Amino acid sequence: MQQVFEAKTHAHSLREPDALRDCTPTDVVGSTPREAVQVTLLGMAVDVLLGAAKIVAGSVSGSHALVADGVHSFSDAVTDIMVIIMMRYSRQPPDNDHPYGHERFETLGTVMMGCLLVAVSLRLALDNIRAWLEGSSAIETGWLAVTIAILSIASKEWLFRYTKRVGEQIRSELIVSNAWHSRTDAISSAIVLIAIVGASAGLEWLDFVAAIAVAAAIGKIGLGMALDNIKELVDTAIAPDKRSRLLTLMEQHPMLDNVHSLRSRRMGKKYLVECVVDLPGHLTIQEGSGVIEEVRAKVMSVFPEIREFSLRVEVSPTR
Ligand SMILES: [Zn+2]
Repeated sequence: MQQVFEAKTHAHSLREPDALRDCTPTDVVGSTPREAVQVTLLGMAVDVLLGAAKIVAGSVSGSHALVADGVHSFSDAVTDIMVIIMMRYSRQPPDNDHPYGHERFETLGTVMMGCLLVAVSLRLALDNIRAWLEGSSAIETGWLAVTIAILSIASKEWLFRYTKRVGEQIRSELIVSNAWHSRTDAISSAIVLIAIVGASAGLEWLDFVAAIAVAAAIGKIGLGMALDNIKELVDTAIAPDKRSRLLTLMEQHPMLDNVHSLRSRRMGKKYLVECVVDLPGHLTIQEGSGVIEEVRAKVMSVFPEIREFSLRVEVSPTR
């Protein structure tokens, strides 16, 4: 079979102003909305203050759960720093060294961050299990721990609402998911508050159970971050149902015979897809090119998660 021509598209290539205009602001290569950085910095400041207050108050009052919640706040602050660095660096436009863009820097950073969180979580859980087995003293100055826990719930709930509003305004999925993280932080602090009150009333085991639960929550977040991004680094293909929908869509075009050799892999949040199609031999290069453009435009509009779509053309043996 003779290869006629090869066509390729770069959805976010800077040479395609129309593609850029259709994007949400945060999708645009090389730009980071100022609001996104500001709201993330605000969240980081809240996390640092809360982290310090919880660890001090938790240590003074003897609440293991509050100390664990403080470690969680510090790990959130580190994640926020990473989000800011990644937003700046991974959105740089493609260059000669990285012609596919810089999104994989974000992937790699997220894997490292996830592993760090898993390590923090294991350490926290083991420390608390050991302290529980050794048997420890009751909670003293419980009012201090209770005050800090209430402060944490209130500020995290406020941060959730504020961040969600900003994220929706600038249409940033990353910022909106950061907002929901703040909501889970508020819930986590509420559980810690219940544990402190319970432990002050004599149910000391509640404090350890809550501390281990907080450690497990950190571990779950870290594991999710690491596994999801490792899948991308090992070139995981598009989901099977999407793959068959994509093939069906292409096969609907009357000029395309035998769509085959479809391969795909993830790059950042999007996919790079390539495949081979047969075209009737009587078409001119111009006509064939037109067919390919039609197919590509259709595919890119139905599957916004595809960033690049490469089609190689062969001459159909049947017509
Ligand atoms: Zn958190």
